[in-house]
Amino acid sequence: MIIKLKNHASLAEVDTLSQDLLDQGFSFETVQGDAHTVMHVLGDTTTFDEKKLYAYDCVDRVFSLQDPFVRTHKDRTKTKTTIRLGSITVGRDLFVIGGPCSVESESQIHKSARLVKEAGAHALRGGAYKPRTSPYAFQGLGEKGLRWLSEAAKAHGLISVSEIVDKADLALFDKHVDVIQVGARNMQNFDLLKALGNSAKPILLKRGFGNTVEEWLMSAEYVMNHGNDQIMLCERGIRTFEPHTRATLDLSSVLAIRELSHLPVIVDPSHAAGKYAYVDGLAKAALAVGADGLMIEVHPNPVRAFSDGAQSLKPEKFSRLMDALRALDDTLKKNA
Ligand code: PEP
Ligand code: MN
Repeated sequence: MIIKLKNHASLAEVDTLSQDLLDQGFSFETVQGDAHTVMHVLGDTTTFDEKKLYAYDCVDRVFSLQDPFVRTHKDRTKTKTTIRLGSITVGRDLFVIGGPCSVESESQIHKSARLVKEAGAHALRGGAYKPRTSPYAFQGLGEKGLRWLSEAAKAHGLISVSEIVDKADLALFDKHVDVIQVGARNMQNFDLLKALGNSAKPILLKRGFGNTVEEWLMSAEYVMNHGNDQIMLCERGIRTFEPHTRATLDLSSVLAIRELSHLPVIVDPSHAAGKYAYVDGLAKAALAVGADGLMIEVHPNPVRAFSDGAQSLKPEKFSRLMDALRALDDTLKKNA
C-alpha cells in the first residue's frame, strides 16, 4: 500500500500514523520527493481497512497494491481450480447444465432429464425453491421438488443442480443435490455463503445483477474462507439501461475472471436474454470468450412452463445447440 501524505502535514500527525502502522505489524519506508511525500507500507493488508487511513488528517491519498480477494485470487494456486463431477472435470471439460427453470411435476422433470441426457448435456437443473419477484408467482415445490430432481438426474446419469435460498435448507440440499446453486438475488446473502462454506458440495455462485466482478469474487471468498473451495462462478447478466433483453450479458466478466481468479466460470445465457431466440448466439459467444460451460433453460413444452417459458429452449433446439457447442468446443481446444 502507498500512502501519499498531504503537503504541510503536521509532523505530530505523521508520527501518530507511523506508530499506528508499526503497532499493526506493518513496516514502511518514507520517500520524500520535491513535490510529494509518500510512505511505501509493507505487510499483508487482507484484514486491514485501507479506507480508514483517510481518518488521519495527514493522509491525502491511499493506493492499494493488494487485491482484497486473496483465496480466489489467481496467485493463490499455480493451477486453475477444477471440480470433479462424475465423469466430467469442470474447468477442463465442456460442462453444460440443462433443464427447466422449475421442477413442476415428477413427469415434467423426468422428461426434462431424458431430453437433457439425449442431447449430451451433463447436468440437470430445476428450481424447487424459487426466488420470484412476485409473491403470487409459482414458488416451487420445495423438498418434493428436490427429491424428484435428484431421482430424475440419477435415473439418467446426470448431475443435479438446484438453487438454495435459505441456509435452513442446507441439510436437504446436501442430501438431494450434487451442486448447490446460489442465485443472483442471494449473491450477497453472507449468512448463506458462510453456511455453504461448511458444505461438502460444489457451489455454483451466480453473479448478482447489480454487482461488480470484485464483489462477486468477494462472495466466493466467503464460501472459501469457511472451508469450501469447490466453487464455479456463473455469469447471468447484469442490469443496465437496455430493456430489450432481460439483462445485459457481460461476457467481458468471463475474461476478467480468467485474468483475476483460478475459479472456473460458466455462463447462463437464458436468464441474461430472457428470450429463447437469443440463447443460441449468446451460448456460442460465451464459449468463444473462454467460459468453462453453460447453464441453459430447456423445457419439454415451454408454452406450458410454470416459470421462464419465454427463455426456455424446446428440446429439438437444445439438442441442435448441444451439437454446435461440442463442435465449437473441439475447435477452440484444438486451436488453443
Ligand atoms: C435460476 O437460475 O433459476 C435463477 C433464478 O437465476 P438468477 O438467480 O440468475 O436470476
Ligand atoms: Mn429461470
